Amino acid sequence: MSEELFSQRTTTCGSLTKADDGARVILNGWVHRNRNHGSVHFINLRDRYGITQVVVDDDADEELEAAANSLKLEFCIAVTGVVRKRPAEMVNPEMKTGEIEVKAEKIEILSTCPALPFQIDDGLKTKEDLRLKYRYLDLRSQGMQKRLKLRHDFILSIRNYLSARDFLEIETPTMIKSTPEGARDFLVPSRHYPGKFYALPQSPQLYKQILMVGGMDKYFQIARCYRDEDARGDRQLEFTQLDLEMSFVKRDDVLSLMEGLFGHVFKEVMDYDLPATFRRLTYADAMNTYGSDKPDLRFGVEIKDVADLAAKSSFSTFKEIIGKGGFVKAVCAPHSETVDFSRKYITSLEDAAKVYGAHGLAWMKVGENKSLSGGVSKFFEGMEDEVIERMGAAEGDMILLVAHQDWKRCCTSLSAVRNKLGKDLNLIRKGFEFCWIIDFPLFEYNEEGGFWEAAHHMFSMPQQEYLDTLESDPGRVLGDLYDLVLNGYEVASGSIRIHDVELQKRIFRICNFDDETAEQRFGFLLNAFRYSPPPHGGIAPGIDRMVMIMAEETSIHEVIAFPKNTAAVSPMDDSPSEVDQKQLDELHLIVKYPEKP
Ligand code: ASP
Repeated sequence: MSEELFSQRTTTCGSLTKADDGARVILNGWVHRNRNHGSVHFINLRDRYGITQVVVDDDADEELEAAANSLKLEFCIAVTGVVRKRPAEMVNPEMKTGEIEVKAEKIEILSTCPALPFQIDDGLKTKEDLRLKYRYLDLRSQGMQKRLKLRHDFILSIRNYLSARDFLEIETPTMIKSTPEGARDFLVPSRHYPGKFYALPQSPQLYKQILMVGGMDKYFQIARCYRDEDARGDRQLEFTQLDLEMSFVKRDDVLSLMEGLFGHVFKEVMDYDLPATFRRLTYADAMNTYGSDKPDLRFGVEIKDVADLAAKSSFSTFKEIIGKGGFVKAVCAPHSETVDFSRKYITSLEDAAKVYGAHGLAWMKVGENKSLSGGVSKFFEGMEDEVIERMGAAEGDMILLVAHQDWKRCCTSLSAVRNKLGKDLNLIRKGFEFCWIIDFPLFEYNEEGGFWEAAHHMFSMPQQEYLDTLESDPGRVLGDLYDLVLNGYEVASGSIRIHDVELQKRIFRICNFDDETAEQRFGFLLNAFRYSPPPHGGIAPGIDRMVMIMAEETSIHEVIAFPKNTAAVSPMDDSPSEVDQKQLDELHLIVKYPEKP
């Protein structure tokens, strides 16, 4: 574009103050609001930096008046004019530029815009698919602009912190050998090699480990990861993580690096002070105390084991479950001014528990003088003091109990109750609460398949004391694994890795990969491990989720410029879409459509 074509801005819409009084300026931006008071026009001109009020006074010449009259919302324009202080009563303290306005001398329309499908800045009330179809309009909203800036600042701060500490940012390939890490791979057919495929990485896991064998010592990458999972909630098929790996480290080195990193980043980006170290909970403690391996620590309502009390009670259902080696646990809902512990409310808590396998939710209310009433209280007669003391309960509180044969179900059902209470009773503090979950089991039993699989991935180191019993008792093995949890979300997972070929093969075998299959799939890693690998470990915080939490949003769509919708479709460009027959032919592919039901 030649220079004369439009009047190019001399400043942005977010920068003028009363110190600029009298200055001649050119602004470029979009018409955010356009009000007409008689023959005076007030135009709010917007760009990424802010909004400036432009005034077309009643002394405007014909051309200016005509231009002002033709403006519609979101027209892209250039305004030439003079800055003037607003009269005292017109000052708008809400606006960065609220002390001034620009008296327009010339308005150029750079491009026009048809009627809008939705009001910009009204994004959250608009249906998501409409926002995604017109994402370019949605991106103009202040919310999206603020969040993408936050995301940028977050990533930049991470890059600077790590680079200053000897980390190298190294790219790893996005077309790799299919080495499933737990989810399904996305495949890319090879044109040159009919029947062969590349896979998109579920994460750079093996490559970062091989970088350690390659002596890179400290690596990170802002990496895109791809997992072909069923569309659910706000899960994305592609997401971004801070992928990181270090040589010659033990678990605590990785943990303290992360504490330093996020302490620095939260201060720099949000002026928020995090503690120097984060609370650490073992997996078992987290489950027993909060019912979850991603507990929200912004409120209490801890789970207590009441199996001994239930055994002494006269409640046969509980006694039976305990008799068969089951579990009885409880939480105490604190008295609330706003929520009535009615039957209806208790049923809603029970429904939450049932989603996680509870058969029911027993309850009793705490009354005056350490009394218990309602629900199962009659079975605890004579034990009121003990029950109330165990639960740390007070008058007006309600005790909620779950009994289950299965420890995990007992815990997770109560976690659902706890989380609902946290929200409904307004117990959740503002702010950011990180914690580490450590000492996870290394394996999980796959009930359907009837075999053991890695709880995290197959490259994590078992803790030393279990090395002799890996095969004989896989269920008991703890790994050198860690998760980072923030406000009830898992935001990172990592581990100290195996760097020994024989140990790696043992893990593969336990996870149902015989030596031949393991060589076929992971031979390149095993080969690398034959050439003096260093001990190493790492972690991978999810960028989308962390920025979502920092922005106090509940969907990662809000912090991704172009997300897919909940059906894994992009309404803007209509992907996924069909391709030409010629493209399929070149790739040697024939599409087999599912039969219509
Ligand atoms: N590759 C792992 C993941 O994406 C993270 C790690 O172990 O570093 O979950």
